[in-house]
Amino acid sequence: TSAIHVIGGGLAGSEAAWQIAQAGIPVVLHEMRPTKSTPAHQTGGLAELVCSNSFRADDFTANAVGLLHEEMRRLGSLIMQAATENRVPAGGALAVDRDGFSHSVERALNDHDLITISREEITDLQALDWDQTIVATGPLTSDALSQSIRALTGADQMAFFDAIAPIVYKDSIDFSKAWFQSRYDKGDGSDYINCAMDKEQYHAFIQALLDGEKQSFKDWEINTPYFEGCLPIEVMAERGVETLTFGPMKPVGLTNPNAPDKRSYAIVQLRQDNDLGTLWNMVGFQTKLAYGEQKRIFRTIPGLENAEFARLGGMHRNTFIKSPILLDQNLRLKSKPSIRFAGQITGCEGYVESTAIGLLAGRFASRERLDQDTQPPPVTTALGALLGHVTGGADVETYQPMNINFGLFPPAEIDDRPPEMRGKRLKRGDRKKARKAAVCARALNALEAWIKDTQP
Ligand code: FAD
Repeated sequence: TSAIHVIGGGLAGSEAAWQIAQAGIPVVLHEMRPTKSTPAHQTGGLAELVCSNSFRADDFTANAVGLLHEEMRRLGSLIMQAATENRVPAGGALAVDRDGFSHSVERALNDHDLITISREEITDLQALDWDQTIVATGPLTSDALSQSIRALTGADQMAFFDAIAPIVYKDSIDFSKAWFQSRYDKGDGSDYINCAMDKEQYHAFIQALLDGEKQSFKDWEINTPYFEGCLPIEVMAERGVETLTFGPMKPVGLTNPNAPDKRSYAIVQLRQDNDLGTLWNMVGFQTKLAYGEQKRIFRTIPGLENAEFARLGGMHRNTFIKSPILLDQNLRLKSKPSIRFAGQITGCEGYVESTAIGLLAGRFASRERLDQDTQPPPVTTALGALLGHVTGGADVETYQPMNINFGLFPPAEIDDRPPEMRGKRLKRGDRKKARKAAVCARALNALEAWIKDTQP
């Protein structure tokens, strides 16, 4: 059999190559480092962690990312195995010795009879005549390859910066203050959630934005010319105290049913962010404020006093494609199904998530080659929920990279908890925990059933 080709030996590409080889199919892994590097990588090692050494929480009984760890372990993940072997103490988190981790991954791939590692930059996708290719070149995909991907997908289907507005869990919004309405009552009336401010609240809010501690841009990020069209909210505020009332916070075309006689001075809008309606993004609120500051300042918005954030805002150099319209359920490019995408370039976010999408891409590719079932994992699993975000569930217009979180799963009933936890009476905070435990237990059952159902 001819080999499957994987471009990019980062987290996703290394995992994809491993899954393919373990299925008995030869694979060539193309990695441009050390010949050519990225602005963030420091070594020539495969699966280099570019920043933190943490894979985040490892608890799979009540934590979404821990659940993703466990699901990947059950599917024979090389990255999870190498992470576990190189674990360093970090409380409930799975943190690793980064060099040891990268060496373990590289050794396993090098030692595998079916894997060839080719150190070269791939620059032109159209010129390739491979039967099956997986592109896993990450958030810092080389310029030449980025251009080639753009040519293949259409220029406006690819982003070079993420401009992330915070995303709020709907069930943490106070609807005695917030209300549903579309501006000028266009749409079906429930398209937006609105939070109104009076003059005093607005001016205090602007001052907080100006005074708030900011994250710094890296030098090479400042020089990336792509983001004038999408300014951080605090930069808009710097341009004038009233600027935001003519921009994302304009108060026109909306009436607050909780205070019908009072004119709103400014209004923050949130737009539905996933099919399930559990997550809502703050429209136009991309920001470089420090994370703690975002929570503090955005919770001064009436209705968001107790907001819980599925993700906080940010802006970084980040190459990703609009996967929800470009890719099918098996991560294939609809317009050219011999090419799959995997890892952060598909619009997931984080080491663990990138690996997970790499695992799925490798599994889909090898199963397709072997004429086996390529049905995606159910949406009740963490793998399925994340894949759903990438290939369908998210709003295409506002599509931005996202970590795994409980908002991506269909809600679970408390009685989906493991049997030993059922039937106990719960306080309010404990109900939330119980619901998470229910999602996790349900996921692992669904994963086992899926593994069984898709067995050759
Ligand atoms: P990568 O791990 O980046 O792998 C892509 C590989 O493709 C690289 O080895 C690259 O050299 C290679 N490549 C690129 N172009 C070509 C080409 N044309 N031909 C051949 N090879 C090519 N996530 C976290 O969870 N925690 C963090 O702390 C964190 N910090 C980050 C910091 C920065 C600066 C960035 C940019 C991202 C960070 N991320 C973090 C997000 C993300 O999880 C990581 O970038 C992750 O490594 C993505 O995995 P990946 O496999 O998709 O891409």
